Amino acid sequence: MRHPPRVLIVEDEPSIAELIAVNLRHNGLSPIWAEDGEAAQREIDSVLPDVILLDWMLPGQSGVALAKRWRSDPRVKAVPIVMLTARGDEGDKVQGLDAGADDYITKPFSTQELMARIRAVLRRRAPEQSVDSVSVGDVTLDGATYRVSFQGQALKIGPTEFKLLNYLMRHAERVHTRSQLLDKVWGDHVFIEERTVDVHIKRLREALGDAGVMVETVRGAGYRFTSQVNLLANAREKPPLPADVPQHSASASGGI
Ligand code: CA
Repeated sequence: MRHPPRVLIVEDEPSIAELIAVNLRHNGLSPIWAEDGEAAQREIDSVLPDVILLDWMLPGQSGVALAKRWRSDPRVKAVPIVMLTARGDEGDKVQGLDAGADDYITKPFSTQELMARIRAVLRRRAPEQSVDSVSVGDVTLDGATYRVSFQGQALKIGPTEFKLLNYLMRHAERVHTRSQLLDKVWGDHVFIEERTVDVHIKRLREALGDAGVMVETVRGAGYRFTSQVNLLANAREKPPLPADVPQHSASASGGI
């Protein structure tokens, strides 16, 4: 997708925040730490996270007050919130959920439990960010491990190109305009120009190597990912031809 899902950890205890961050990173997520509501708001204003892990007891505004505020903010309200707290009693749980938390986890918790909750809210809120694997032609993308392969060979691919490819592969053979791609791939949180899409399409093609021609430019319309290209027949004839033998220029059809 793209960058790995961003998880904003709002927690005033550095040791807990660090422990959570290490586990998130280990599970392929991208943690951002804010020690109070003010710092969290700055992070949210800059880049909208995919999930917020929100401690109940914070200096300044409480987690419950923050959850209420974010739920009434049109830009933030769709971001899932998982409340973290040392309290376990039912009344507090109800109060947290009433304030707009999507889930609730009581300290101390196991990291496995935490990861399961995060994955569950990501699945519910962001079907585009599916962790399933998807294959089109000989290209396979695994949303859980962030790996892409072509004919069984692993490819090196940047986070934005991954996100772009993930979207294109899950909506293969369809044409997407630049503005649709900005909306679906970059989402709400970045103010960028349409030509940025072209830059990442170019990088994506480079990362895909022989499979790059599967990312087609549809003149005057946009881009599509397609298995309807015949380069695949050539690409299977590995090892490649010696350098002094002229190669067919079929791959030029992938250019802009
Ligand atoms: Ca705390």
